[in-house]
Order: sequence, then C-alpha cells, then structure tokens
Amino acid sequence: MKLICPVCKKPLIRNNKEALCGNNHHFDYAKSGYLNLMISQKKNHGDNAEMSKARIAFLNTGAYAFLQEKLSALTRELHSSIISDLGCGNGYYTAALTAEEKFGFDLSKDALKYAAKHDPSTQYVVASIFNVPLADRCADTILTCFAPTASKEIDRLLKDNGYFIYVSPGPLHLIEFKEALYEKAYVNEVKRQDLPFPLVHQMEIENTFHADNDALQNLFMMTPYAFHTGIDDVQKLKRIEAMDIRAQFVIQIYQKNKESA
Ligand SMILES: [Zn+2]
Repeated sequence: MKLICPVCKKPLIRNNKEALCGNNHHFDYAKSGYLNLMISQKKNHGDNAEMSKARIAFLNTGAYAFLQEKLSALTRELHSSIISDLGCGNGYYTAALTAEEKFGFDLSKDALKYAAKHDPSTQYVVASIFNVPLADRCADTILTCFAPTASKEIDRLLKDNGYFIYVSPGPLHLIEFKEALYEKAYVNEVKRQDLPFPLVHQMEIENTFHADNDALQNLFMMTPYAFHTGIDDVQKLKRIEAMDIRAQFVIQIYQKNKESA
C-alpha cells in the first residue's frame, strides 16, 4: 500500500477494517469503503451533504460526460500504474480513469461515501490535498479537477517524468447560465499553474447540454455562485423552464522532468 500514516509518515498496512502503521496508529475504513486519514480536529470543509447531492444529481444527467470520457482516454494513453486524484469529490471523474491503482482524496465525507459505494476501483481517502498521506514519488499521474493546485504536494508525489493533469473551467464555461442570472456575466480566466515543471500540452473541449429546471437548480447549488447570488437571482432561476448551456473546459498537462528541475 502506498498510503502513509498521517501521524508518523510510516507505511500503512490494511488489517481488516482498519489501516495501521508500525507505530500502531490506526485508522478505520468506513462501511462504504473510504478511509479517514484526517487527524486534525478542525471541522471538515469541502462540499456539505446538500451540495454533494446537487452535484451528483447534476453529473448524473450526463452534461459533463464528455469530460469524463476525455480524461478516461487521456489516462489510458499515459499507461499509469498509479494515479492520484486530488480533490476528487464524488469520484465522477476518478472512477473513469485508467490505472492499475487509483487513489482519490477529498475533505468531504459525504462525497467520498458516495464515491466509495459506486467505484470499487479506487481507494478513497479523507485527507487534505495539501497534506496527502501518500509516499514520496509514488504517482505516475496526478489529476486535479476544479480544485486548487497543491504544487508542493504534486511535486513531492510525482515520479520523474510523471504527469499532472489540471482541469479548469474554460473562458465561456456556463456562459448562457451566467448571462441568465447576472447583469454582467464574467468570463473565466485560464491561468498557468504555479509548478516547478513545464506545461507540455493544453487543450480546450466544449459541449452544449440541455438543462431542465431541476438541472439548473442543481447546477446553481453545486457551484460557488450559490454563495454569491442575491435573492433576486434565485427567483430568476426559478422562472427558467429550461435552457441550452455551454460546458467548456481547459485541460492542461504538466510533466515533471528531470532535466528541467
Ligand atoms: Zn503512524
């Protein structure tokens, strides 16, 4: 097992329903199969149950299936033995990745409970992506979708020549949805991530999906817009029966390269 103890950093070994290290620190596997390696007593962040439910319902409409398929194809081409998904949420993309061994990390227990139940191909772990309980240089590929880039950890975890795949919203992602809600719809900025190795490939993919009012409500709930919108906007949303919306994503691939280090 590539997981390490969050207390003493020694390798963890699975023993029935718990994982333990040589110093006898032990951690329980949840009934659904995820492992909780958070040692801080602080309240967990990440999606709450309501956001997680909205996200699952929205993703199950298939609106972002084209991104899932793209990531599946990309990882198939990379022939990775170990993939780590940092900020994996409910595992919608993780489940489709191709590797011999997969790990998904997130702070949301609600999301990981769903992920573990639906995707037995991945070990899901409750942990911060800024303090990942995995051994140094064990990952061939790391994926981060719509989550912050944990540069230091990515550099520590990747093998030489390993890949970091970063997915972010494209400039016009959900633009019709934003235009319907706001007076001024802002365009997303695509930034190069701050990493000690080069960007080797960048692509943009897009698709238009038809969203009924349920899908619109879920989309609203699962995005940060839910926290930034006044009550007028919410009323506007209730009046929209359905609409066609563009989903646009930018996929950046970085490669840890011995020579450039
Ligand atoms: Zn330990």
